[in-house]
Amino acid sequence: MRGATRIDRIAVPPLLREIAAVFVASGKQAFLVGGAVRDILRGERHVDWDIASNAAPEDVMRMFPRVIPTGIKHGTVTVRYKKHSIEVTAFRIDGDYGDGRHPDSVLYASRIEDDLSRRDFTMNAIAASLPDGRIIDPFGGRADIEKKLIRCAGLAEDRLNEDGLRALRALRFASQLGFEVDGELLRAIRRNPAMILPVSAERVKTEFDKIIASARPSVALLHMERCGLLKLALPELERCRGVEQNGYHSFDVLAHSLLACDYAARNGYKQTVRLAALFHDIGKPAAARLDGEGALTFYNHEAISEEITRAIMKRLRYPNAVIDETALLVREHMLNYTDAWSASAVRRFVRRVGEENLNALFDLRRADSFGTRGAEPPPNLSLDFRDRVSDALAESRALSLKDLAVDGKDLMEAGIPSGKLMGIVLRRLLEAVIDDPALNTKEKLLETAMKMAEAT
Ligand code: ATP
Ligand code: MG
Repeated sequence: MRGATRIDRIAVPPLLREIAAVFVASGKQAFLVGGAVRDILRGERHVDWDIASNAAPEDVMRMFPRVIPTGIKHGTVTVRYKKHSIEVTAFRIDGDYGDGRHPDSVLYASRIEDDLSRRDFTMNAIAASLPDGRIIDPFGGRADIEKKLIRCAGLAEDRLNEDGLRALRALRFASQLGFEVDGELLRAIRRNPAMILPVSAERVKTEFDKIIASARPSVALLHMERCGLLKLALPELERCRGVEQNGYHSFDVLAHSLLACDYAARNGYKQTVRLAALFHDIGKPAAARLDGEGALTFYNHEAISEEITRAIMKRLRYPNAVIDETALLVREHMLNYTDAWSASAVRRFVRRVGEENLNALFDLRRADSFGTRGAEPPPNLSLDFRDRVSDALAESRALSLKDLAVDGKDLMEAGIPSGKLMGIVLRRLLEAVIDDPALNTKEKLLETAMKMAEAT
């Protein structure tokens, strides 16, 4: 597209026009900025709206009835308007980034152009004036969007030195938008990947989450590897490169993990499955041993993978529930189901994994299978096992102590003292019922319990 035909005005949604009218009535300016403008110009929807204004936060709080002071320190408040939340930030220029992490001070600016010049990439440094939608694009962001190019607004080296997170943001946008990363930007990261080190774990996690949630996580992760960021941010994953696998595997462990993760993303699998797909074999470098015939084995790698997964996710400050679910999927990913499993073996497995995690585990199996050869797994993968689970649970759903036909009180009345022995007897009763569901009546269990107590 030639520059002359470039869009110089966007259609402003009615809601934003109503909000803009309030600014105008107070003699203030308002501009739509950031991801919303970028995505409108890309022809995509963007859910949240950011407004930049020459109004101070206190002004905005007077102008609208419902305003939440979400980031007053940074000049940001959130306006609630007809069930929407709109972030309004006063024009800013950032002070020195002495620590490469946060601006040392926030200074207000009087012009939108100054505010745009602190933003990271040209595509993110475009404003649309409200209410008319006129575009202000001092860094050539529209041309880069047309070229699908991620480029720093200003000199890459300087902009990365100000805030090391921008390196990861650039690569995250490559995964999210399917854009190329400017060569100068990539070289600047490669020259000094250590810029990421002072960045807080929370900020890294936010970007890593967006990479994992994107349509193709491998794009950012491969960039990270080539630029030296992977070695610093996720060294455990970087170590999987070059770890070859024998037999039916076509790829080294890192390539396999990236294929599995992309498959999970492409099929819309949930976050924990995507993370487990990326980390399920991360223990293989540590588990690698040569067997008698000189072949590589990875005995017990799932346990080491689980441990490493927990350590990485803890470091990135994931909530415990997310860590536990991902770790469980990693630990159980080997699921070597055969027809020879008895119904009680199937029930034992369901008890260990939890019925609520079965579908996620099956999704992970598909992703893992895809990553082995890069071919779509057979449609019936895990189907037999699903049937077996349904059958085994139809026979008996007693999988935990609370499902037993007796409880501690019943056993006490039968003369078994509460305490350690009681605990042992209850657990053995559950084992017996998982093996033989017909035992789960009060009468039979009491009889069995008495025998157990005597024998212990
Ligand atoms: P999305 O919300 O879809 O992830 P976004 O572009 O809105 O994308 P945000 O992280 O919400 O990204 O940031 C909003 C805007 O703030 C960006 O478009 C950019 O202009 C600016 N911005 C955010 N983080 C930085 C940063 N580290 N350095 C410079 N500018 C930034
Ligand atoms: Mg945003």
